Amino acid sequence: MSRFFSKRFDALEPYVPGEQPQEGGFVKLNTNESPFPPSPKAVEYAAEAAKGLQLYPDPECRRLAAKIAEMVGLDVANVFVANGSDEALNFAFGSFCDELRAAVYPDITYGFYPVFAAYNRVASRTIALRDDMTIDVDEFCGFDPQTTGAIVIANPNAPTGFALGLDEIERIVASNPDIVVIVDEAYVDFGATSAVSLIGRYENLLVTQTFSKSRAMAGARLGFAIGQKELIADLNTLKYSTNPYNVDSMTLAAGLGALEDEEYTRQCCTSIIETRSYLMEQLAALGFEMTDSLANFVFAKHPGIGGTELYEQLKARKVLVRHFSAPRIEEFNRITVGTRAQADALLDAIRDILKQG
Ligand code: PMP
Repeated sequence: MSRFFSKRFDALEPYVPGEQPQEGGFVKLNTNESPFPPSPKAVEYAAEAAKGLQLYPDPECRRLAAKIAEMVGLDVANVFVANGSDEALNFAFGSFCDELRAAVYPDITYGFYPVFAAYNRVASRTIALRDDMTIDVDEFCGFDPQTTGAIVIANPNAPTGFALGLDEIERIVASNPDIVVIVDEAYVDFGATSAVSLIGRYENLLVTQTFSKSRAMAGARLGFAIGQKELIADLNTLKYSTNPYNVDSMTLAAGLGALEDEEYTRQCCTSIIETRSYLMEQLAALGFEMTDSLANFVFAKHPGIGGTELYEQLKARKVLVRHFSAPRIEEFNRITVGTRAQADALLDAIRDILKQG
């Protein structure tokens, strides 16, 4: 830290993203990217858009927002297009929480939430998951709006992969009418149910989704939020106060291409869901215990080897997975579901490690 660094941020502990090794040769199962390339239509549209890079992008992201709106049966005014869903989430923390009205989320969830809270200088509180790492829905119902600004639920949750049903999400939303419920659906396309269908009925619901996982565009940085137009207007107030051109023209075009090729996305998701079943079966046969994941990752531990040890041994064999050293989950590793060939490479490495152990 320089001696010039603002006192407002000197206690900020930034988020640590998963490793992105620059040397090749890794089986990369650590950041829940898609193992597939983006839709050819996304690539084609991005290349075409590159020819117009002398101009700023449309700050309102109108064409893409209209396509998203059409996809979910709402209006463009219900859509906020973001530079990754991280950006939408950051603006949501800033918009709906303050020093008194905290952001509330489970103790085990996406590690960026506490950082968004700290960066926006808003209060935060965690609610413990049950021992089996599922969410106790009752614990998220009926908060006091004097002390809570937003409830944040990743659905499916990360890194556990557990998903709540639509009825459970609705119970949380309906029982907190004066608090914004942010449902982070980064992984929803791999088997969970989206809460977008509730938006017409609840003015306090904001859903975020991403192009990074099911649409194979993590490198483009594209996400969006959907909610009633007043909530979207709040996000826009923060966007137009920081970076009006938050999404570049090539990314906007690529996003449109991806949405025009939903069949491709569906095929990618089907393949990942099939490989997830295969991987979970094989890991169970090797003695792993796992959460019941509906995401594009599995969360697994083995009684015979510690979480850190397994992570390191896999890395030595050029297989990268994600290990978190937080209490309650340090014995687990989060493993992205890639292709069948990647799953087999991981399983071979694990067999080798267990044999030596
Ligand atoms: N939410 C969750 C639960 C995530 O795991 C991620 C990916 N790290 C994000 C949101 C953000 O994704 P992106 O910014 O790539 O859309």
